[in-house]
Amino acid sequence: MPITTPVTKLLKIRMPVVQGGMQWVGVPKLAAAVSNAGGLGLLTALTQPNPDALRTAIKETRAMTSKPFGVNITLLPSIQPPDYAGYARAAVEEGVTIFETAGHSPGELIKYFKANGCIVIHKCTTIRHAKSAAKHGVDVLSIDGFECAGHPGEEDIGGLVLLARAAKELQIPYLASGGIADARGFAAALALGASGINMGTRFMCTVESPIHQKIKEKIVASSEQDTVHIFRTLHNTARVFKNKISMEVVAIERRPGGAKFEDIRELVSGQRGRVVYETGDPDYGIWSAGICVGLINDIPTCADLLQTMEKGVEDIISDMQLVVVKSKL
Ligand code: NAD
Repeated sequence: MPITTPVTKLLKIRMPVVQGGMQWVGVPKLAAAVSNAGGLGLLTALTQPNPDALRTAIKETRAMTSKPFGVNITLLPSIQPPDYAGYARAAVEEGVTIFETAGHSPGELIKYFKANGCIVIHKCTTIRHAKSAAKHGVDVLSIDGFECAGHPGEEDIGGLVLLARAAKELQIPYLASGGIADARGFAAALALGASGINMGTRFMCTVESPIHQKIKEKIVASSEQDTVHIFRTLHNTARVFKNKISMEVVAIERRPGGAKFEDIRELVSGQRGRVVYETGDPDYGIWSAGICVGLINDIPTCADLLQTMEKGVEDIISDMQLVVVKSKL
C-alpha cells in the first residue's frame, strides 16, 4: 500500500520522502536518483558556483528524471554572500516549481516563489518560526529537530516534542526532519502527524550520493556519538562530524574570551569541507552529519533504500494494528 499524504498529493510524488538540501551533496545525480525512487530530490542551489551553473544543473537533472524535483536555497551567514535572488530567478526561469527555503529571513524569497506560482517547503527549527513562515504563505513546513545535521537553531528542542507541538498547532502539512534514517523513524514521524519525512545524512550514504566512498564507509562505521556542535558561541550552531578540525574549532571557541569568526574562518570554510567529499579524507575539513549516523549500516541505492523503508513502515503499522486488536480481545 503506498503511503499517501497531503504532501505526496501536493508534490505529485509516490512516497512522502524529501531529500535534504545538502551543501556539495545535492547535485543532479543524487536529486534525480531520489526522484526516480519515488521521493523528492532537491538540488542545493549554493553548491553551484553561480546562477548560470544552477541552470545547467537543472537541465542535467531533467535529463535524468521525468519526475518532480526541487531546489533548496539556504540563507545563513556565508564567507562570500551568495546572490540568493539570482539563484531563485534562474531556477524559476528554468521551470522549477518546487522550492525548499531554510535559514534566516526567507520572506522576500517566499514572496517571489509564491508570486510565480511555485510550491514552497520551508525548513524551521521552532514552532514560532513555523507559524511565521505559514503566514508568509509557504505550503509545507519541514520541522527540523535538534538531531539534525547542519544548523539546528539555538533552542535545542528534539524532534519528538517539536513534532507533537506541530500536530497541535500547525494548520498546514509538515515534514519531520532530523534524526530519521530508517522505517522506525519514518513510522514515528507519521504517528506524530507529519505528512512525510526529510532525510539528509541517510541520502549521503547511498550509491548515487556524490561523496567519496571512504566518507560513506566512515558514516557506516560511526555511532551516534560521532557528531559535535560548532559555532555555538557565534549563535550559528552547526552539527558536524566529529573530527580533528571540528574539535579544533570547538577548542578555539572555548578559549577564555571566546572566538571571533575570523579565528576559525580558514578551518570551517565550505571549500575545505568540499575536499573531504572529493578526496575521502574525513579529517581535512568540516562536514555536516546528523546523529542518525548511528543508525546507518549500509550503502544502498536510493531505490532500495526507499523500498526497504516503505515496506518497513507497512510492517510496523500492521504490527501496531495487531497489538491494538489483541489488546481489545
Ligand atoms: P561558507 O564557506 O560560506 O561558511 C562555512 C560555515 O561558516 C557555514 O556553516 C557558515 O554558515 C558559517 N559562517 C560563515 N560566515 C559566518 C559568520 N560570519 N559567523 C558565523 N558563521 C559563519 O559556507 P559554504 O559551506 O560554502 O556554504 C554556503 C552557505 O550555505 C552557508 O551559508 C552555509 O551555512 C549554507 N549551507 C547550506 C546547507 C544546505 O543544506 N543547503 C548546508 C550547509 C551549509
